[in-house]
Amino acid sequence: MSHIPHLVPGLTPPADEAKSPVFNPATGEQIATVGSASAATVAEAVAIAKAAYPAWSSLTPAKRAAVMYRYRDLLMKNADLIASTISREHGKTHPDALGEVQRGLEVVEFVCGTPSLLKGDYSRDVGPAIDTFSSRESLGVCAGITPFNFPAMVPLWMFPVALACGNTFVLKPSERDPSASNLIVELAHEAGVPKDALVVVHGGKDAVDALLTNPDVVAISFVGSTPIAEYVYATGTAHGKRVQALGGAKNHMVIMPDADIDQAADALMGAGYGAAGERCMAVSVAVPVGKDTADRLVAALEPRVRALKIGPHTDADAEMGPLVTRQHMDKVAGYINAGVAEGASLVVDGRGFSLQGYENGYFLGGTLFDNVTPDMSIYKEEIFGPVLSVVRASDYATALKLVRDHEYGNGTAIFTRDGDCARDFAANVNVGMVGINVPIPVPVAFHSFGGWKRSSFGAHGIYGPEGVAFYTKLKTVTSRWPTGIRSGASFAFPT
Ligand code: NAD
Repeated sequence: MSHIPHLVPGLTPPADEAKSPVFNPATGEQIATVGSASAATVAEAVAIAKAAYPAWSSLTPAKRAAVMYRYRDLLMKNADLIASTISREHGKTHPDALGEVQRGLEVVEFVCGTPSLLKGDYSRDVGPAIDTFSSRESLGVCAGITPFNFPAMVPLWMFPVALACGNTFVLKPSERDPSASNLIVELAHEAGVPKDALVVVHGGKDAVDALLTNPDVVAISFVGSTPIAEYVYATGTAHGKRVQALGGAKNHMVIMPDADIDQAADALMGAGYGAAGERCMAVSVAVPVGKDTADRLVAALEPRVRALKIGPHTDADAEMGPLVTRQHMDKVAGYINAGVAEGASLVVDGRGFSLQGYENGYFLGGTLFDNVTPDMSIYKEEIFGPVLSVVRASDYATALKLVRDHEYGNGTAIFTRDGDCARDFAANVNVGMVGINVPIPVPVAFHSFGGWKRSSFGAHGIYGPEGVAFYTKLKTVTSRWPTGIRSGASFAFPT
């Protein structure tokens, strides 16, 4: 059985280091172990990244961008290998894993423009013979703590931007599927990022706590569930760090009576069941407006959900794979039990799904609930599985209020042909990312990603211009040249 190592040059973890198992979710077999870094191991990794900072940060932005150009090429050449590595430990289908690589790669493309991104502002003559310019400077050692559901894309939201801005970086990937994170970091090293400027430590809470409290880590990027995001934000900021912590979600899609129901149903299938619903931008709540819309939508969804092709990532026809772990599968099945007990109408039941030859895999079938109400736990909580809830709304105002009142505010969408309604929704919804006839409105890499309400803690979004702002600090220089000296001392503010 292979062991997935920390990637820290010169580090030899103690022989008795704790290890956690990594599984193939399609078969239920353990395929590897991964180390759980102790506080001492994390301290060593941070010290190495700190020592690498002066040399890396003093390279010109153009030199760092040149490394990113090479990195982009290497990611493209190795996309298939990265995707297979993701799928083997996460379970998602190969095309979906390739999509994940592509979205991460686009962030690398964005930072190929680093010299432009770090350009400052200049104002001549802010006073007599006085000029002001501002520039953005790197911070030091930054750290990233990432979730299982995008083991390549989410780290790529972080470290290329941090490195391009001149920082060094410590990555702590999810312990459930760590191999893809190691692979993309090794490719960054091959592209020319020094091995000590980008290091990886594996582990769980102990490793995270060691990063949150280490005085040499100046910035923390976190993506994961809301309780941990809140904890990371509170602990990191209490230790004087800047923190961006992105959390969980419950994304609603409103379907207006004028929407094309087949189009909306197809969009819901991809957005609700793709990656087995394990996406922070998955649509988990459909809100049809009016009884007729709801009846037509549920009638369109039911056969589609029953026909979902579920299989391992090696099955080229599979549309959806297994859940990531047995515990997570059981948790999602528990939510289906809860929905039934709470009185929702179970239209399609995914419990008890079994696949011949993969009986020990963590598979669940697609599940569809109708007549879900806001007081039910399956509505209030993030399920993070292939479970779609239909909440019927009598009118547009009720639908908008549902979205506004939910504690999460990551993404949302409206399907309609009415521009006025779409415009009103975009203007009045209190959610960070809004789709108009777009079910999963993940912003492209030159915009920024970020939710509102309890889906995000901290002031900055991730990647794009917000990422550059997060990983840099502003310096503003006001300069006065010889005229003042030639004309003698001045004791009053210039007027
Ligand atoms: P998670 O919160 O369990 O883990 C995320 C990271 O935190 C991992 O690296 C893990 O090792 C670490 N961690 C876990 N428990 C910890 C603890 N008690 N103390 C300190 N660190 C701890 O999340 P997950 O299950 O890996 O990922 C799924 C969650 O991530 C979902 O809630 C999903 O919505 C969210 N997510 C959000 C976004 C976003 O952009 N908002 C993107 C992807 C995933």
